[in-house]
Amino acid sequence: MTMVPGEAESMPSHAEAAARATAPLGNAPLEKVALETYVPLAKPSLVGLSRAELAARLGDIGVPSAQQKMRVQQLWHWIYVRGAQDFDAMSNMSKDMRAELDRHFTLARPEIAVEQISGDGTRKWLLRLPSGLEGERAHEVECVYIPEVDRGTLCVSSQVGCTLNCSFCHTGTQRLVRNLTAGEIVGQVMVARDRLGDWADRTTPNGGRLVTNIVMMGMGEPLYNFDAVRDALLVVSDGDGIGISRRRITLSTSGVVPNIARTGAEIGVSLAISLHAVRDELRDELVPLNRKYPIGELLEACRNYPGVSNARRITFEYVMLKGVNDSLDDARLLVKLLKGIPAKINLIPFNPWPGSRYECSDWDQIEKFSEYVFNAGYSSPVRTPRGRDILAACGQLKSETEKLSARERQALRAMAMTD
Ligand code: SAH
Ligand code: SF4
Repeated sequence: MTMVPGEAESMPSHAEAAARATAPLGNAPLEKVALETYVPLAKPSLVGLSRAELAARLGDIGVPSAQQKMRVQQLWHWIYVRGAQDFDAMSNMSKDMRAELDRHFTLARPEIAVEQISGDGTRKWLLRLPSGLEGERAHEVECVYIPEVDRGTLCVSSQVGCTLNCSFCHTGTQRLVRNLTAGEIVGQVMVARDRLGDWADRTTPNGGRLVTNIVMMGMGEPLYNFDAVRDALLVVSDGDGIGISRRRITLSTSGVVPNIARTGAEIGVSLAISLHAVRDELRDELVPLNRKYPIGELLEACRNYPGVSNARRITFEYVMLKGVNDSLDDARLLVKLLKGIPAKINLIPFNPWPGSRYECSDWDQIEKFSEYVFNAGYSSPVRTPRGRDILAACGQLKSETEKLSARERQALRAMAMTD
């Protein structure tokens, strides 16, 4: 087997991925973007790579091209179906091959900084990622698992922080911003399956999985990290691997209009739009991206979303803010605006955070709003708050844990590991 000379030279892909991860964010506002160098791990992880990337990595370590397809198939199965954490587990590979892989690569996932389990079964992980700057604290993102009767939904992050500053969202206030790599996005699903014991050898009466659905509704704006999100979701939806079908994956965007059609064409997942207001004047304030892509343009992109139909509706998210966007006039205009678009409406009770300037609408008002929307033909539209005791909402675990001392963090981590 031919070996490439130095370790650093043999692993260009990670550096490339890192460069992509820290590249300027397309047409996103750049003021808050910290262009930090991502420190490549001593050995790069194969977790999150596509088939083509896996083949290229095998080529780097001298696996002949005639063997690559078979090796990729084996790796794909062990990584994405069995959840293997080390090469030694790969029993249908020769000892030499396993040792060779181990010499160059790992199967590392993002590190769990904190795990919290809510009384209602919701689980939240704060994951630590390398920032790359010496002396700089690591970057952190969160990932939440929400079990329900007929499904288990994992809420996944696409960026550390967000450049978009929606006035009701805590993530937008965070200082550090960088794109996650595709590996870090897939890595969140891997961590959840690891912690839930949700791999192929789990025995359930129907052989079903615990994580059945994915929502890109964690930290960040997925359509400002399009390539990595696309690559990651194609890995996650691969039927011979993690196998979560595109219909069970929902990507939520604040309205990056130029990338909406691409989402349908290149990823083919379900779409959710963070609408939150029915007049441009108010939406400009709540979702400042509206100044660039106003409501009319956004809804036009939704009308043309590839694959949209009554069986495959677009979800419109609407956060209920007391006295701001929750009147029955707003409800009427909402129904009018969405006319002709196969739509679902999801009313989200506002989740307050320290220093936020809004309050959640009164329950009474949410019910009236919901009833209006229901009578107009949209079913069960209020999102039940889950995991409130562990602050399971956008960006909030991070702010809470930032207040903990190093000792408390260590204790929490130890608890997470022994659970
Ligand atoms: N950036 C994307 C996806 C992440 S946010 C987007 O904005 O769509 C996921 C959802 O949570 C969005 O609908 C967002 O508006 C909503 N959200 C953010 N902060 C919230 C809060 N404090 N309370 C309730 N919903 C919130
Ligand atoms: Fe970013 Fe979405 Fe939060 Fe707006 S709501 S700041 S787009 S994460």
